[in-house]
Amino acid sequence: MTADPEGMTERQMAWVIGRINEQVNQTKSFIQSAAEFHVRDLKATEARLIFWCGVIVTIGFASAGFRIGAIGVAAVVIMRCYWWTWYTDRFNGRVNHFRARFRDLLEKAEDSNQTMLSEDKEFLQKYTESVLFPLAAPRSDVILPRDLVHFETLYREYNGWHRWHKDGCKLCAAAQSVRGHLNNAISKIETTISENRQGLIAGIDGRKPEAAVHATAFLGDFCEYERSKRHPQLATLVDKEYWTFEEAEDVLRLYRKEEEEYHRSEKNRSQVLEKLPAEIEEAAFRCKLAEVWWSYQEARRAILEVEPIRRFLRRRDSEALFREMAEGGPNAWWSQSDVLRSFGYDRSMVERAIKSANKLMLKESQSKEYEKQLGAANLTFSWYNARKAQ
Ligand SMILES: [Zn+2]
Repeated sequence: MTADPEGMTERQMAWVIGRINEQVNQTKSFIQSAAEFHVRDLKATEARLIFWCGVIVTIGFASAGFRIGAIGVAAVVIMRCYWWTWYTDRFNGRVNHFRARFRDLLEKAEDSNQTMLSEDKEFLQKYTESVLFPLAAPRSDVILPRDLVHFETLYREYNGWHRWHKDGCKLCAAAQSVRGHLNNAISKIETTISENRQGLIAGIDGRKPEAAVHATAFLGDFCEYERSKRHPQLATLVDKEYWTFEEAEDVLRLYRKEEEEYHRSEKNRSQVLEKLPAEIEEAAFRCKLAEVWWSYQEARRAILEVEPIRRFLRRRDSEALFREMAEGGPNAWWSQSDVLRSFGYDRSMVERAIKSANKLMLKESQSKEYEKQLGAANLTFSWYNARKAQ
């Protein structure tokens, strides 16, 4: 290999970077195991201390002739030591299982043959350090209980079908009906949007002043802003008084996006955004399309609320689907959305399905074991976080 970095081939560079990463990970792993060993050592010292104190007290009782007292203390000490060893072994075993499952998932994320969603990959990579080397990870990288819960969802999704699945699986039936119900509502919203939009485009076509959006009220502001070539695609609208529905919608979309990007306050809002929606509504009135415009607006609001639903509808495994739906808690979108109801969405039906799915999932012994592992990991990571915060 040459000493000149510019002379290195890409493959050589990749090899060097790979070696460095390997070294870094080994160091982190070393720090983590050293810290864990230290914690275990402390616990062992505590157990030994209790043991020897117990022995001294027992001898004291025995030499004073209190036989029952001596036997009682000896029994308590032995039980405490045994129980403690058994408990910590089991607890540590659970945390290690949790980590093993995380590693397993990480391998799947890096395997190009697996079809993992890119946002799931990003999530796993973001928390790799915090899960595998929590004490070596920076303080800012703490892992929160809700992240661990999401990790469990991903594990269900990418670990093959839920293992307790059988013919006539009730969980899959519940998932199927929830999926069908939600997809129905979504497609109703989408149809409403596209039909109403077609109607508005056909009506407000800008050929006559009555069938156009009047831009006079804000044209001055618009031209001033656009003359510095903000949006080349809007160049034809500069100085144009009568806009078609499509043109007005393009302007709305671009200006709203810009407003979001720059986090403009209500005060600094562009005059165009302030006046354009009202002008579109006026045009819709003139064309007798006011109802269509209102319904279009409502469907557009509904489609925004549908975004989180789409996210969990992508889960293929029924268990992962219900877990992700429950991640938002009881106050998630479905307990609040009124907009969706007008598109046939039945909140109580979905809530009932979630409840019965939760019952079914809790009944499975495998799920119970996973929950215990999650609980142990949760306690361990909050302990690490508290140490790091000090
Ligand atoms: Zn099933």
